[in-house]
Amino acid sequence: EAHGLTKTFRVPRSASGSTRLHALDGVDLTVRRGETLGLVGESGCGKSTLARVLLMLERPDAGTVRYDGVDPFTLRGKSLLAWRRRVQMVFQDPFASLNPRMTAGELIAEPWLSHPDLVPRSGRERRVRELLEMVGLRAGDARRHPQEFSGGQRQRIGIARALALNPEVIVCDEPVSALDLSVQAQVLNVLTELQTELGVAYVFISHDLPVVRHVADRVAVMYLGRVVESGPAEEVFTAPRHPYTASLLSAAPRPPTAAPQDGRSRRIVLFGEVPSPTDPPSGCRFRTRCWKAEQVCADTVPADEPAPGAPQHLAACHLPL
Ligand code: SF4
Ligand code: MG
Repeated sequence: EAHGLTKTFRVPRSASGSTRLHALDGVDLTVRRGETLGLVGESGCGKSTLARVLLMLERPDAGTVRYDGVDPFTLRGKSLLAWRRRVQMVFQDPFASLNPRMTAGELIAEPWLSHPDLVPRSGRERRVRELLEMVGLRAGDARRHPQEFSGGQRQRIGIARALALNPEVIVCDEPVSALDLSVQAQVLNVLTELQTELGVAYVFISHDLPVVRHVADRVAVMYLGRVVESGPAEEVFTAPRHPYTASLLSAAPRPPTAAPQDGRSRRIVLFGEVPSPTDPPSGCRFRTRCWKAEQVCADTVPADEPAPGAPQHLAACHLPL
């Protein structure tokens, strides 16, 4: 559970000065055991910074993260190491994230160097073979190097490596966006099957809405460092309440099985560019691009409000759809 996460970075503005980039601004987020939370938004909206905070690779300026009630930023030594095992990461680029000098087997076994008690030395070879088979590779693949595999196979190695520590949460940052379309579904199915089998939760970060719709139980939509809408995936996708979500959905390719378009899912073309995160608009950050904006949107930051009859479906908008 994350509450009020805020993170700014100092960025150079000119030779003489610097400014602050507002990457996260008061983000609340809940990930439940065994579920997939889709984290959606355009590049630069803060998704990756949020992931890095959840993985404790980045300390927030304000706000808290709790896993089972424990703030990992307060942990030290053995308890910190034990916590790190529980939350793992699958990276976007399976070409860059695997060391080409190591074999698949060595790559999968490497996390055990820092967690030597997890799998006894004598059982590691067998466990590597098991993990390879769990992600749809062959036991014999352990001896091959990353460059001998296709992109989809490399991402399977990345997943096996993340699984090596029996995590409870895996943060997947654009895990299929570097892959060919035909391979994406296979890798997504591997993730889905592993979730059913192991009960692992995913924070699934993507700008690709059809992909998120395919995998997510719940979604959170981010815009300029804030979560603007969140809720059960089907509800958010079929009845978006925040104008930004509606615009994203209207621009996304629709699955052939989707319901016929109603008024709400007409194509919406936004005007303007995403404002700079070094100088975000007052009030609602979406107001410079929103066709519904009124004075109140500039004056007051909209609070998260539940949809009528759907208390889990929240939108931060003064004039929700
Ligand atoms: Fe648009 Fe106002 Fe809602 Fe922001 S608060 S999304 S500007 S209507
Ligand atoms: Mg990113």
